Amino acid sequence: MLSYRHEFHAGNYADVFKHLCQSLVLQQLTRKPKPLTYLDSHSAAGRYNLASDMAQKTAEFVGGVDALLRASLHSTQAQGYLALVESLREQNQYPGSPAVAANLLRAEDRLVLMELHNTEINNLRDNMGGDPRVAIHHRDGFEGLLAVTPPTPARGLALIDPPYERTEEYQQVVKTLKALHQRWPVGVIALWYPLLAKKRNKAPAMIEAIAKNQPSSLYRAEIWVKSQPDELGMYGCGMAFINLPWQVDVQIESLMPELVQALGNQQGGCFSEWIIKPE
Ligand code: SAM
Repeated sequence: MLSYRHEFHAGNYADVFKHLCQSLVLQQLTRKPKPLTYLDSHSAAGRYNLASDMAQKTAEFVGGVDALLRASLHSTQAQGYLALVESLREQNQYPGSPAVAANLLRAEDRLVLMELHNTEINNLRDNMGGDPRVAIHHRDGFEGLLAVTPPTPARGLALIDPPYERTEEYQQVVKTLKALHQRWPVGVIALWYPLLAKKRNKAPAMIEAIAKNQPSSLYRAEIWVKSQPDELGMYGCGMAFINLPWQVDVQIESLMPELVQALGNQQGGCFSEWIIKPE
């Protein structure tokens, strides 16, 4: 039984960081006129009402998108994402990864959105259905990614953003990335992961296992908003990329300190590295 609902977390600092990175990759890919495919293995609802009981209960968006909009980033590459979130914020909404992608993609591009949760799939259909570029699949995203690749068009991005509610998901991510990269060597793969308390932080071992499978390149970027707790809780998050497009590392690195400052936390910080450099 799936219990995670993204609406509790919509627009928080982790969403902002993930969606900014996603935007930078898609902007770079759409500089070429050739069409592309966007795959989202864990789509959730696609768009969120920040006035809903769920969003208001945690109000995580206050420390995320609201802090960002108050600060306004200078990075020119962030402006597309900022314009989207600003216009939706006026309607008390925040875009999920499917809406961020749909906003940047062109008429000739395709979006394949997967979601397993029985309620969330209906929300996804309501929010993203009716767009001729979009196919929505009610299925396991790990299995779905392998079933639909290599896609047509062959250029593109797969975003993998599991809830990490079950420990096995870390292992599933490693296996799926390996198989997906083999099936689709030209695809850009972007993975979101949480940075957790010392006793529960499984991200370092997961990234090490991904590197051991020797993808053609591997880059990671992480931000945190407080110091690492010992026992419980998330203090930051990261994005790992296989086949990160040219120049996006530089864009992420110039954006991250500004973002940490915009989120306004003294204990915040950021880190990035090429674990495997492209040849
Ligand atoms: N990517 C979304 C965004 O940025 O707006 C948020 C995704 S949320 C973190 C994770 C979603 O994955 C949840 O909606 C959950 O129901 C869904 N999910 C959990 N396990 C799944 C699986 N095996 N396959 C597909 N979706 C799954």
